[in-house]
Amino acid sequence: MAGSIGRTGSGLIGRVTGIVALIAVLLSGLVQPAGAQGERLRVVATNSITGDLVNNVVGDRADVVVLVGANGDSHTFEPTPADVDALASADLIFENGLGLEIWLDDVYEASGSSAQRVVVTDGITPLPAGEATGQGEAEHEEGEEHEGEEHEGEYDPHVWFDVANVTLIVTAIESALVAADAANAATYSANAAAYQTRLDELDAFVIAQVEALPAERRRLVTSHDTFAYFASRYGFEIVGTALPSVTTESGDPSASEIAALVDQIVASGVPAIFPENVSNEDLLTQIASEADVVVGPALYTDALSEPGGEAGTYIDLITYDVTAIVTALQG
Ligand SMILES: [Zn+2]
Repeated sequence: MAGSIGRTGSGLIGRVTGIVALIAVLLSGLVQPAGAQGERLRVVATNSITGDLVNNVVGDRADVVVLVGANGDSHTFEPTPADVDALASADLIFENGLGLEIWLDDVYEASGSSAQRVVVTDGITPLPAGEATGQGEAEHEEGEEHEGEEHEGEYDPHVWFDVANVTLIVTAIESALVAADAANAATYSANAAAYQTRLDELDAFVIAQVEALPAERRRLVTSHDTFAYFASRYGFEIVGTALPSVTTESGDPSASEIAALVDQIVASGVPAIFPENVSNEDLLTQIASEADVVVGPALYTDALSEPGGEAGTYIDLITYDVTAIVTALQG
């Protein structure tokens, strides 16, 4: 009898346990997709620099896909089917804006994506395109043979060369992640705060490096017009650029433009001019030869190097460029 009761009892307990387990499985199936647990946010960053900033805030809490990768040129990028897929499945897209990603609207629409787009430069006061060199205006007064390439973008998109701008970008990234993924908000905010401390140190490093360079040597010549924000914050003059534009898309300069730039380089007394990782060095090498100045090391401008390389992170990019600039301009 006792044995019989026992068997009946354990059978009942077994059935109840089974039902409880079944309910638990059903509940987990219902709860998990709606909750943040197990559902990782899918994030796209348009380029390697923005991607590094996003990754520093994300840490290990979301999946980040970068469209324009190491040494890639955002101005002339052509999206692949894989990029379309990444946009289609994204929850959040971080873009620079200010005309850097002229290809993004079309590919976003084509992908059918419903991801939220976050323009990380929204809180920044932009510089007008072509302001740094004044090249566009001068050339236009002399002749109208240009196709108006200086006016392709209203603003200069290269905000990341002022570290203070990047602190605003990181705040924008943090806000968007916190809003989109409340379950990980505390982690995003802690990561952002830690990274902001490193940016403050980077800004101080740049200022100290530049102070080591005599004021009259703080003059830059590069491939395209990408250092205006750097010049504005850290006290440099942009003598001129090989490509007379804030984009690398414009055609090569005319013979008279090159001659004018060579004259400006000679008059400025700069000992070196700088190619960039995102553009062809040949034009700059030719100009350096005509002006009889040194070709400096290629600066990392609109993209990081490969991971683990000289400029595999944003902080390494700024550190590398500033060191290279100050060293080469010492003469
Ligand atoms: Zn650029």
